[in-house]
Amino acid sequence: MNNLNSRFSLLSLDPTIIQKCIHCGMCLPSCPTYQETKIERNSPRGRISLMRAIAEKRMDLTELFAHELYFCLGCLACQTACPVGVDYKTLFEASRQDIEKSQILNNPLRQIARTALIRFLFRSSFRLRTFGKMLRVYQSIGLDRLVPYLPFIPAKLKDMMAQLPPIASHFSSELIQPRETPFHTKVRWKVGLLTGCVQDLVYSKINRDTVDVLLYNGCEVICPPHQGCCGSLHAHNGELKTAQLLAQKLMDAFPLNELDALITNAAGCGSHLKHFSNLFPPGTPWRKKAEEWDKKVFDIHEWLVKIGFSKPKLTDTSQPQPVVTYHDACHLCHGQKIKNEPRIILNSLPFIRFVELEESDHCCGSAGIYNILQPEMAHKLLNKKIAKIKQTAASILCTANPGCLLFIEKGLKKQQLNIQTVHPISLLAQWYKMANPGEPTPQKNQEKLAIPK
Ligand code: SF4
Ligand code: SF4
Repeated sequence: MNNLNSRFSLLSLDPTIIQKCIHCGMCLPSCPTYQETKIERNSPRGRISLMRAIAEKRMDLTELFAHELYFCLGCLACQTACPVGVDYKTLFEASRQDIEKSQILNNPLRQIARTALIRFLFRSSFRLRTFGKMLRVYQSIGLDRLVPYLPFIPAKLKDMMAQLPPIASHFSSELIQPRETPFHTKVRWKVGLLTGCVQDLVYSKINRDTVDVLLYNGCEVICPPHQGCCGSLHAHNGELKTAQLLAQKLMDAFPLNELDALITNAAGCGSHLKHFSNLFPPGTPWRKKAEEWDKKVFDIHEWLVKIGFSKPKLTDTSQPQPVVTYHDACHLCHGQKIKNEPRIILNSLPFIRFVELEESDHCCGSAGIYNILQPEMAHKLLNKKIAKIKQTAASILCTANPGCLLFIEKGLKKQQLNIQTVHPISLLAQWYKMANPGEPTPQKNQEKLAIPK
């Protein structure tokens, strides 16, 4: 495992990766934490200098460094801005791995939270779904509304419980068959659909919409039920072994050789799913399988544009004509460099008026579990994002990551703004349905999306 470990530790990382930074500062304007604090340590350049000092053994790994790396959102905006191509993602993951190995941030509460969330809950699809079902009951009988008034629950726990997302009434496996075949056109492609973990529990409807869109475009869809987490959360939080295990489980769940592509619709997952090979040492069977896997993973927008998706045709001018804007999820635009494809799809929808969001590629503050760990900075960024959304006068905000959808939706509600948050693919699915009203649909348990005028 030496080759692998060298990629996941600052001390044994290929020095050329860390020496690439020429300290030009071109990344500073794009870094949300630096923009807020104007402190060099909170910038990509400052963080890379600290990493280099540790890698060259001029500095020990300190608590200050550890906090700094958890203050970084991991949004990768610096990677896009960097003129010399510094691989910040590798540096960031190596640093987080070293921090966890050093146990420098350990305290009993943190240990309990990490073990419960990262090592227990998100490690098993069965446990996650069972927890999801319990949450669904807790929310459906209104217990969540009682919690703020219960005096015996500590304030910190109340805050955390208030962050829990609303659980969907059906999970993906209840909405999607393990194999679905196009009903109105011949099969052109055979693809696997990755349902994700948060997406599965909270936004299973987006997964259903993704299947519908794929079927409309001649793709047969293979969707194994009860898929687990892809391990992105674990890789970003220094839990390499669990990330490997989850990647192996997911790869085993799909008939890789039979598939033309593996489709993901969650930006954060996609950014990790496309690089499973980084998790395994070269020359091993898992590395070989992961390399094959990586080549086949496509974000849904990327895939649709690649295969020449059919544009919905609407002639009835009484249909809704909403103003729509789009927020670039960091791991789609910076992590996967996918910016045009969602815009191509949104602009293909007849009667919508697409308005660009200013600073659309600035992080909204969600960033995985960042909004729970660093609520102050996260909410500063969210408020900035909402101010920009308001300027567009849009009635629909599209974005392609469950974390962003949840966080922005919550912010909009808090400010009592009547703006819907929708995944671009759900909008496309809705437009297909409006364009083909008489067609049979393979959907079960599907609610109709209410499109504002
Ligand atoms: S990370 Fe890139 S942009 Fe930022 S200071 Fe280093 S070389 Fe310049
Ligand atoms: S990942 Fe984002 S927050 Fe972290 S240094 Fe880069 S731009 Fe700044």
